[in-house]
Amino acid sequence: MSDLRSSHEEVRLGPGGIPDWLEPMVRFCSRCGGALGFGPIDGEERERLSCSKCGFIFYVNPRLIVTTLPITERGEVMLIRRGIAPGYDRWAQPGGFLEIDESVRDAAVRETLEETGLIVEPGEILGLYSRLQAAVVVVAFEARIVGGAPAVTRESLETRPFAPDAIPWPEIAFETSIRALRDWVARVRPDLPPPDSAAIHRPFGA
Ligand SMILES: [Zn+2]
Repeated sequence: MSDLRSSHEEVRLGPGGIPDWLEPMVRFCSRCGGALGFGPIDGEERERLSCSKCGFIFYVNPRLIVTTLPITERGEVMLIRRGIAPGYDRWAQPGGFLEIDESVRDAAVRETLEETGLIVEPGEILGLYSRLQAAVVVVAFEARIVGGAPAVTRESLETRPFAPDAIPWPEIAFETSIRALRDWVARVRPDLPPPDSAAIHRPFGA
């Protein structure tokens, strides 16, 4: 696991202490329907959203996105051209949100099958990547392909292999994908130059 650093990202928080895009989802108390307000709370070390009627504290934390880098026998990584937003028509590794009733490894296998048609065996964790503005943490497993076949799926327009020296950096959907791929390339082909940092920063998405 090579990258536990943040990307030194500036996160812009709105008046509720959370990213602006999250605000419409946390206006009311999920327990009593009262209005949520943001401010200091006894016993809490930072300001938080809480219910004006019942006092329920509404903790807002990042969610986990589980992804894999499925590696072929030839040492290429299988990427999908995304068929859904965000990142439509751009390349990324398969992955998605961890469900409440599954383990991280189960999610890695499920998401990879759903998006690529490939059956994988997750191996080592390549990295954990914080993306503050999107309020997510992305875990990326290196994964061995043990079955299935590349397929067009509900969420992908195309699934195809890329050699470490042929990653389409400017067409990668997400900053966290670039960071995971960069860490994979550094591991398998340390002789290759890292991608241009101008190619790394992405305005939207994870
Ligand atoms: Zn309430």
